[in-house]
Amino acid sequence: MPIVTIKAVRGVHDILPADTARWQRLEAVSRQVFEAYGYKEIRPPIFERTELFARGIGEVTDIVQKEMYTFEDRSGESLTLRPEATASVLRAYVEHGLHVLAKPVRLYTVGPMFRYERPQAGRYRQFHQLNLEAIGENHPALDAEVIGVLMELFRRLGLADRLTLSLNSIGDPACRPAYREKLVAYLRQNAGRLCGECRERTERNPLRALDCKKPDCQEVLDTAPSILDALCKECGEHFARVRQYLEALSLPYVVTPRLVRGFDYYVRTTFELLTGELGAQNAVAGGGRYDGLVQLLDGPPDPGIGFAVGMERVVLLLPPDAQDAVPLALLIPLGDKALVRLLPVAQAMRHSGVTVEVGYGVRKLRNELDRANRLKVPYVVILGESELEKGEALIREMGSGTQRPVPLDRLEAELIALGGVGRGAEPPSEVR
Ligand code: AMP
Repeated sequence: MPIVTIKAVRGVHDILPADTARWQRLEAVSRQVFEAYGYKEIRPPIFERTELFARGIGEVTDIVQKEMYTFEDRSGESLTLRPEATASVLRAYVEHGLHVLAKPVRLYTVGPMFRYERPQAGRYRQFHQLNLEAIGENHPALDAEVIGVLMELFRRLGLADRLTLSLNSIGDPACRPAYREKLVAYLRQNAGRLCGECRERTERNPLRALDCKKPDCQEVLDTAPSILDALCKECGEHFARVRQYLEALSLPYVVTPRLVRGFDYYVRTTFELLTGELGAQNAVAGGGRYDGLVQLLDGPPDPGIGFAVGMERVVLLLPPDAQDAVPLALLIPLGDKALVRLLPVAQAMRHSGVTVEVGYGVRKLRNELDRANRLKVPYVVILGESELEKGEALIREMGSGTQRPVPLDRLEAELIALGGVGRGAEPPSEVR
């Protein structure tokens, strides 16, 4: 049997060290922004009972019908790797009685999601989302707040100017059924000019047909009846006030009557944040109101609204970080005795928050200097037998090649003085 190298599963990807700085920045900025608005982190598990998603997301959605990673565990229970976070967050909200907290209850979570989709650039089978939910309040000012959090995140990341906010209202159970009927009648009339998928959606989930990107369908969909003309009085007023508050916050948006989303649970406000820079995968975030969903999951009749940000897509938009952190110095012991003398120096430096590397004392000086060049360290410390005897080490500046002796008992202080602060980890209080 030939030996086959094991590779990652199709559609999942490694986040490599060259990219982790951008991921960490995205996570850190998100936490700062979310917490500034009073959102608290919740960490639900990544798998749940299948029924939670079937009921929460909707049996007829593409996600539930075609995209879930569902399996039976050893006791025969059907479990699913979460395809989205809202259902899990609301399950936890109900299960732990979080509805007794002051409302709206503001929660966020960060982590991987799993969908069996056709992989392509910007679309994966394991991907990561930032999720934010505000539960227990239906005032339109909360819709504007949640959209405001999203826009503030992208402003802080320096990306706001490259994104467009699409906004829509998709009505509620009072007005949507009549619109749905009108739309189905229109789509059936024009079935001959629609793709197979749209014809199928006409019968199964007609609002989703509005989302079709195929050029041939566009013509038909462009003149389809608009949901905004079909909103009931309450939904129309709610939407008008969301718009009014967004304007008060100077948050620009484009009303997009064909914006529908992939989940059944949305009502009224829906929104997406779009980029023109990532080809077909043009949505970096999406969200909406889900009044009724908490109740559907056996909780109190608490309304809610939230969004999900696709982290891979945001990372693709972020500029690479200017410079990777480089250690301050490579400590080069020549021989084991020197190693024993330098190990505690390296340890003390690290305690002080300064990153250094230390050799093993077995390689030639020339090889260690080669390594220092590849590490791009600005300094090396050389400790050979003759230096040990004199009780000193040599500090060499790699740029100029100049070196000078330093008494061994002053070595740590000298290295810290050479610019340890701010390099590597946080500066410790002793050297601030
Ligand atoms: P959704 O949960 O479908 O509303 O998606 C919210 C956001 O998650 C989207 O706007 C994308 O940025 C991102 N997203 C959804 N599906 C994928 C996927 N398969 N791969 C990468 N990102 C995704």
